[in-house]
Amino acid sequence: ESDISFLKSVIHDVPDYPIPGIIFRDITGILDDAKAFQLCIDTMKHRYQDLGITKVVGTEARGFLFGAPLALAMGVGFVPVRKPGKLPRETISQTYDLEYGQDTLEIHQDALTKDDVVLMVDDLLATGGTIEATTLLVRSVGATVGHAAFVIGLPGLKGHERLQALNVDVFSMIEYE
Ligand code: 5GP
Repeated sequence: ESDISFLKSVIHDVPDYPIPGIIFRDITGILDDAKAFQLCIDTMKHRYQDLGITKVVGTEARGFLFGAPLALAMGVGFVPVRKPGKLPRETISQTYDLEYGQDTLEIHQDALTKDDVVLMVDDLLATGGTIEATTLLVRSVGATVGHAAFVIGLPGLKGHERLQALNVDVFSMIEYE
């Protein structure tokens, strides 16, 4: 409980960003507080270190900020999932629906093998569209993925259920209704 209230105290709640009616949860306050940042990485490492994870996959852009230090702490490699056109070698793409319109994510076609057991990481779970697309990318290159970790979950937006339907177990350190 004290960890949760500490993290909430360093997250900035920004009303009406990026559009009116949305409260944006700004995680830069975690990044610039070494104790808070370390707490996030240590908690996730502790939760996943004995599950045979061989790669951490982080989704652009804030998934990189938590995924890369977690991978190092766990002693495994990090694989980025990026917006279209950013990865220089051969990629696989996955298009997914946003509230308005669509978006596409890409992974290097050779970044993972059939022997990899992946943990997906992002800063925040909302509708689950981003991590659903990431799950499909990871599975399309033949790797196994059954876990996704977030600093923040927004249970009201049902991302948890969406990922559960894909047999992805969800963990979030803190939640906002
Ligand atoms: P989803 O695909 O689950 O609907 O949305 C999650 C994605 O949107 C994440 O990649 C996350 O970085 C971004 N996102 C949406 N709302 C917020 C927010 O309030 N704060 C932060 N930090 N990221 C958000």
